Amino acid sequence: VGGVDHPQRLHAAAAALDAAALAALVVPASPDLAYLTGYAPMPMERPTMLVVTPHGPPTLVVPTLERPLAAACPAGDSLTFLDWRDDTDPYPLVAALLPPTGQVAVGDRIWGSHLLALQATVPGVRWAAAGTVLGPLRARKDEWELDALRRAAAAADAALEEVLGTPIAGCTEIDVARRLAGLLVDHGHDSAAFTIVASGPNAASPHHEPERRLIGSGDAVVMDFGGDVEGYYSDTTRTIVVEQAPPELRAVHAIVHEAHAAAVATIRAGIEIGSVDAAARSVIEAAGYGDSFIHRTGHGIGLEVHEPPYVREGDHTELTPGMTFSVEPGIYLPGRFGVRIEDIVAVTATGAEVLNRSSRALRCVA
Ligand code: ZN
Ligand code: ZN
Ligand code: ZN
Repeated sequence: VGGVDHPQRLHAAAAALDAAALAALVVPASPDLAYLTGYAPMPMERPTMLVVTPHGPPTLVVPTLERPLAAACPAGDSLTFLDWRDDTDPYPLVAALLPPTGQVAVGDRIWGSHLLALQATVPGVRWAAAGTVLGPLRARKDEWELDALRRAAAAADAALEEVLGTPIAGCTEIDVARRLAGLLVDHGHDSAAFTIVASGPNAASPHHEPERRLIGSGDAVVMDFGGDVEGYYSDTTRTIVVEQAPPELRAVHAIVHEAHAAAVATIRAGIEIGSVDAAARSVIEAAGYGDSFIHRTGHGIGLEVHEPPYVREGDHTELTPGMTFSVEPGIYLPGRFGVRIEDIVAVTATGAEVLNRSSRALRCVA
């Protein structure tokens, strides 16, 4: 991926291991591997594992059939390669790169089968989650990453504008979701990742799976969708209404809109992330809907749709420039309707850059 300094990221990971007194880091096929090397093979039963140590060269253990693919990855020149054929046992190869004792960090997304086999091969090692080492590195986006996230957000906004110009009333949720998925790609995403279209009572379920329900007059429709641009994700939500808004929908939308604005207004480097959640939650609580805001205010985003940091009550993580996360308060009234508004923001020295630009107003569509 052009513009990314993978050797620098590998050095930063090694330094973080040293600082945390960890003897090694084992990274399976996962977004962590893509972050460190630019290599993103499909996770599978054949293990691919990067081993990073505080001082030695990073080594990538790969199945022989994928060695050419791995060698061509952006960090290829910075890696030592070891390959294994299907008739051999790969775990001793990885184990030989690890110390016999001490603490080894392992990527959060490793398959259970791979970790169990490794643990049996080096019984003297104590295992730790690599998230504590890699999470803070991945949370601070560099300029290239911020640009990819901006491009993804702009493409998602354009997809929304176009879908709202097409007929919604009389269509099924699945129809609209398919249209959105196509538009995400048309407007610049490499692929669509998810398209939630939740109408009427279905809008009260935050992660509703689109179904054949016909969207009708007076329905609130929550559209929450995203895809990736060069591996970096968009994720935005707008709630619209078909033809005419019932009075309570109008009132609830105004509360969520205000909660969203209050949360964005608090964001700046140096504050605790929990206070962003508190800003949104206090608006909704004051309006009497506190029990209907059933999730945290947001999540980090980058190479994964959900990644650290998490915008939740009482979390003391300090905001630093370059952190990117969603702000997505919602109110959900089971059996009736739901409202959510979501944008991706980037923390700057003085405030927040809001990456999504489409109107947050309650728009009426035909
Ligand atoms: Zn969600
Ligand atoms: Zn979302
Ligand atoms: Zn989200």
